[in-house]
Amino acid sequence: MLFRFLVFILLPWALLAQTFELKDSMQGISGTEYMEVFEDTTSKLTIDQVKTKPFKIQENGITSHGATSSVWWMRLKVRNSDSNDLTWKIKLMFGLFDHVEVWQFANSSLLKKELKGDHHVNPIDTSYRDRSVYSFITQASSDNQIYFKISFENSGIAELFATIWSPDDLSTYLQKNIYALIAIFAGLFVLLFYNFFILLVLKSKIYFWYILYLCGVILIMLTFHQIGAHYIWGDSIVIIDFMPPFTFIVVNISFLSFTRSFLETRARLKRIDTLITALIVINIVALFLSMTDFRIISMKLLQIITLSFFLFPFAGAYLWKKGFLVARGYTIASSILSVTITISLLRMAGFIPTSEFLYWLARFGFIIEGVLLAIALADRINIIQESYAKAQENLNHSLEEEVKKRTIELEEAKRIAEDLARKDALTGIWNRRAFLEMSKLEIENAHRHNIPLSLIMIDIDKFKNFNDEYGHEIGDIVIKSFAENLKIHTRDTDVFARVGGEEFVMLLPFSDINDAKNKAETLRTKIENLSIDAPNMKLRATASFGVAQLKEKESLENLLSRADDAMYFVKKHGRNGVHFTEK
Ligand code: GH3
Ligand code: MG
Ligand code: MG
Repeated sequence: MLFRFLVFILLPWALLAQTFELKDSMQGISGTEYMEVFEDTTSKLTIDQVKTKPFKIQENGITSHGATSSVWWMRLKVRNSDSNDLTWKIKLMFGLFDHVEVWQFANSSLLKKELKGDHHVNPIDTSYRDRSVYSFITQASSDNQIYFKISFENSGIAELFATIWSPDDLSTYLQKNIYALIAIFAGLFVLLFYNFFILLVLKSKIYFWYILYLCGVILIMLTFHQIGAHYIWGDSIVIIDFMPPFTFIVVNISFLSFTRSFLETRARLKRIDTLITALIVINIVALFLSMTDFRIISMKLLQIITLSFFLFPFAGAYLWKKGFLVARGYTIASSILSVTITISLLRMAGFIPTSEFLYWLARFGFIIEGVLLAIALADRINIIQESYAKAQENLNHSLEEEVKKRTIELEEAKRIAEDLARKDALTGIWNRRAFLEMSKLEIENAHRHNIPLSLIMIDIDKFKNFNDEYGHEIGDIVIKSFAENLKIHTRDTDVFARVGGEEFVMLLPFSDINDAKNKAETLRTKIENLSIDAPNMKLRATASFGVAQLKEKESLENLLSRADDAMYFVKKHGRNGVHFTEK
């Protein structure tokens, strides 16, 4: 009530139609405040009957009455106060009416009757610019009444937005209009071809849906601007009637499928995926209904489906927030689409006033949407490639790490294997083989540089007794303990090895005979005083030591033999002693 009151105060024209005063220059004056409308739900009234009916102003500037199967009448009172006849024009912004009948009465007598509309295409409008444009001549100082009867064979959108023009101004406007349309189509075709080549290269499903979407948009533009009807499918009323729902359905299905592939809803958003599937099915049903007498139901279904598009940016944003970065481009692009589509729907359904601006918003909305979706697709490929490269890098890195680890392990295994071959398993000191290799080098070195070098031969005394009395295992313990205790007294340059069962040898580079004798004595004392830990007992052992210094040009074998002799000398003379040989 308050609202109506405010409208009454602010917009008095909303309640009372004024008489329109013709002027010399009229640049698309909105007819809304002058046009009264009347809905004939029976679709049977004649012009004479309608004249007596109550026409109403289109309140709040709302000129669309949504999907309808009624006949709609519009009345405009026009006055020419000029002293000359005036030619002027009315342009209906929505062009897809099946039949438009126009009557012009001058001072109550019929001046002109015209029939236009989609179902009377050729040859009435020879020029594309004359479609949806109605021309009048109004005599000097006359009052005129114009009646429009707008109807559909079955049903359609009653969007009764009209503008009033002087011929020259309309001509200029239509010229600009055509330039703008050329720009839009050029943009759409550039997008189409550019992405079509990408589709050929990538053979990706998403690109297929995108291309189909662009084709749908192009068809919508061709249909709603009547370019298709005028230049392409002009004579076929079947195609003319089929195109509006068909183009919407192509756009809907391709965009829904595009969304499905782009957001990977089957794997990521089960509920949205089910919804999309349902919407695709409803679209197909709507397409069939549009070809029957239930066309109006089809149109209402399409409106609901298209309105549900506003959900998808939210689905995109949700996935984006959850870390599915690919969804970001889609979210931004689909937001623009939802906004433009929602505005167009609200306009067509008669919830918001129609205006020239909203028409252009819808037209450019499609091209902005097309560009944004192309960017989203490129962004998607970029993100996928980046994450692929990252995964590859991680894989390479971990492979490298693995190889490094394996190499270290192998080197370690090799070292262990070599050690095993060169070391004595029981004591861990060098074995006979290693001793022979190493001492050969040491002796060569000593000869070449004239360095003193000595050798101590060591043999445990009466070792057999340990084995005989306590068993082989205790014998092993004695050998081990013996070796460990001697090893403590070796230098890094000394070579200490087990060369026989209980026989050891110590090669001492940089030691002359006196150094070696002293060392042997130290070792002997150490062993003599050593208490060997064995299970449940302590054992004692002694050893015999034979010492020799390397002579000029002497071989290893000879040196060994001389040290051995010295050692046997000790064995013969009571054991537990040190003897050296000069010969
Ligand atoms: P001598 O004072 O004259 O050297 O007397 P011996 O008993 O120490 O000398 P002999 O060479 O007669 O005996 C050495 C014994 O050492 C013979 C063998 O059974 C034993 N033997 C050799 N290798 C090992 C070993 O690895 N473990 C054990 N438990 N005994 C071993
Ligand atoms: Mg022996
Ligand atoms: Mg012995």
